[in-house]
Amino acid sequence: MNINTIILSFLTATAAQTVKAQTFNEVSYSPKATTFSLVTSPEVKKVNVLISDADNNEAQLVKSMKRVGAGKWKLTVKNDLKGKYYLFGVYNNAQPDLTPGVFAKAVGVNGQRGAIIDLKDTDPEGWSEDKRPELRNPVDLVIYEMHHRDFSIDYSSGIKNKGKFLALTEPKAIDHLKRLGVNAIHILPSFDYASTDESQPDKPQYNWGYDPLNYNVPEGSYSTNAADPKARIKEFKQMVQALHKAGIRVILDVVYNHTFSIDGSNFQKTYPGYYFRHRPDGTYSDGSGCGNETASEKPLMREFMVESVKYWVNEYHIDGFRFDLMGLYDVDTMNELRAALDALPGGRSILMYGEPWQGGGSQLHRYEANKANLAMLSERIGIFCDNTRDVIKGGCFDAREPGYVEGRPGSFWDIGGAVAAWCLSDKLPAHSPSQIVSYVSAHDNFTLWDKLMLVRYARPEYTAADSAALAQNRLAAGIYLTCMGMPFLQAGEEFARTKKGQGNTYRSSPSLNRLDWKRAAQFHGLVDYYRGLLGLRAQFPRLSASDAASPAAIRFFSLEQPLVGWTLPAAPGDGAAWRALCVFYNPTEEEKRIRLPDGQWKLLSDGVSSALWKGPSRVCGGEVTLLPYSATIFGQV
Ligand code: CA
Repeated sequence: MNINTIILSFLTATAAQTVKAQTFNEVSYSPKATTFSLVTSPEVKKVNVLISDADNNEAQLVKSMKRVGAGKWKLTVKNDLKGKYYLFGVYNNAQPDLTPGVFAKAVGVNGQRGAIIDLKDTDPEGWSEDKRPELRNPVDLVIYEMHHRDFSIDYSSGIKNKGKFLALTEPKAIDHLKRLGVNAIHILPSFDYASTDESQPDKPQYNWGYDPLNYNVPEGSYSTNAADPKARIKEFKQMVQALHKAGIRVILDVVYNHTFSIDGSNFQKTYPGYYFRHRPDGTYSDGSGCGNETASEKPLMREFMVESVKYWVNEYHIDGFRFDLMGLYDVDTMNELRAALDALPGGRSILMYGEPWQGGGSQLHRYEANKANLAMLSERIGIFCDNTRDVIKGGCFDAREPGYVEGRPGSFWDIGGAVAAWCLSDKLPAHSPSQIVSYVSAHDNFTLWDKLMLVRYARPEYTAADSAALAQNRLAAGIYLTCMGMPFLQAGEEFARTKKGQGNTYRSSPSLNRLDWKRAAQFHGLVDYYRGLLGLRAQFPRLSASDAASPAAIRFFSLEQPLVGWTLPAAPGDGAAWRALCVFYNPTEEEKRIRLPDGQWKLLSDGVSSALWKGPSRVCGGEVTLLPYSATIFGQV
């Protein structure tokens, strides 16, 4: 790419503003005719469509597209093309770039060619009755983050469709999620990504999938037959349908911020240079740490993102989006995405949250969608709150840095900030709990268990049922699950998941990444603890409230350091099981005595058993004991 091309692409950006990305980047099928549309660089003089009977480059039909505007091309073929494959041949140079286009909706193996299908053929039975599970409010979610292969690949999962979308239709998977009490799953990249060879389903391969190829098609390696373009689409829908029936929402991890490579990307093959950010010297900016970054501020890129999320909602009934490296998008784009989702039927309950950071030095010179600019983002766009994460369990980059649960001096101050979803703190400009995702572990960095073991021991034994680390684990969960905002956990956190002290396992072996379900039996007490806390949380709706007044209703007690204690009254008429909650965190290895506020209080959780709230009333008043490393919870009766 030379400087002249960059200047030209800036000049043409304005002209492209009126082009509708999706309507001009699609293949629209009917039995009578198929219409191909494409947006290219306005410099392109010729575009062909190559149609083949099979998923290979032997085209039986080559047709020239008609130029219908600057960079806009159209072709209608009056035959029934169902079951055929296509490629656009874009003459950016003497030899055409071959691509299924930027908005392919069906592809063959490894996403190399577009497939012509009737999307109606991919709807499972009953799909038109599929409904998004109801929520009490947009923040009333407990989000479970999982990877299709991690979740079910191990023999101990007992799941038949191991590593596939269909795994999540099986009772074994659904029962675990339901019993735990989560009501949303966040699936790691499930669009078509490049790093896994779909033609070799039996080869042990693993990748998190942050290397996007076709953004609007499900990944083939998670289908039972990547060679059948309809299978991945239908099976994805079956997964959504089964989860919805179980009352579980489905959140898609979207990675519009970069492509797996520049030259291999469909963006580059249709409109060279346009979709990416550049440094002043013309080279590609790399704010993702993956070799490039897209340019959300350019009209076609922004519109691509808007149309893409709308497509996933309309075609796949997706309930929310997790934006990878959201700090690489400008605030305006994020707010425009929010508005576009809000305009869909039931769209206001479609969740949006993202990572409020970048993966490198970006050339984004507008307002970045990061923590500093939280006040400019819609209050219904959430961020992964690393303040909450790090204050509870310690920094995620230095393995041995302690947090509050490991006795970090002075950290109790920020625990209060976390409890109130940072709405009462000047450290983050949060203005609603709906902006905060409260968590202590995600696929990046150490699992919670590994982190606790790394801080505690020079040579951790990750498989040990270590009682002190278990108590710290319960305390960490007891804190973030009583924070306002949206709680989020990495799959397996509830049974002390270990990756043996490894953090960045994006392409490590499946054996390191897989969930070992034998641990669910070994650490069944911890699983019960998570389940009890999630059940308790559901009984007190104000913890999951989205209004700004609720954090302001929290009262903190003056206690001996480093204890933290607070109380929150139920909101009038919110159906809470108790008139108020009273919560204490003890991060020391000793028992502590505290005095309860006036009134009658039922012990709901003593930090070991979190299901006391289900049992007969044990009413307390006056002085009570807090166990070592515990979150102790009382409800006013
Ligand atoms: Ca793929």
